[in-house]
Amino acid sequence: MADVVDKSTRSRMMSGIRGKDTKPERVIRSALHSAGFRYRVHVSDLPGKPDLVFPKYKAVILVHGCFWHRHSNCWWSTNPSSNSEFWAIKFAQNVQRDAQNILDLRKLGWRVAVIWECALRLPQKGKIVSAIGAWLESERRSLTLPKRSDIRRPKGLEAKSTKAVSQRRRDERKPLH
Ligand SMILES: [Zn+2]
Repeated sequence: MADVVDKSTRSRMMSGIRGKDTKPERVIRSALHSAGFRYRVHVSDLPGKPDLVFPKYKAVILVHGCFWHRHSNCWWSTNPSSNSEFWAIKFAQNVQRDAQNILDLRKLGWRVAVIWECALRLPQKGKIVSAIGAWLESERRSLTLPKRSDIRRPKGLEAKSTKAVSQRRRDERKPLH
């Protein structure tokens, strides 16, 4: 299938995503669709029912919520203060299942991108979608966004995050000497 737009038009369209209250998956879908990428959604005959499947690019995108899928070092990956044992088991199962699904997808020859939900809360979210587009057109096996160095504390979240997380963050900010 031929691309429906040229490269410069595509990157212009991809940098224009808006709508801060929109569901992350929908934001990614609509930006990629506008950019001319075609995909299937929630394909149930593939491991883990990937959110977006791009047969032409032999690629899948998993859009992961930071809390449920346990995005490490992320401000949205908080720890509930009650029923901690229940949550620990639940989270471990989620992480295990995700890892297995990614392995199974790779075994079937799929390239796998994991896009954490917080990527779309970053100021540079336009770049995130451009990076997904560039990855789709590349031959790279995997992609994870946001990059670790781009994860940052969002405004106003400190009050909502648990003590444990806040303490960990404070420790990380301490000078090394
Ligand atoms: Zn995150």
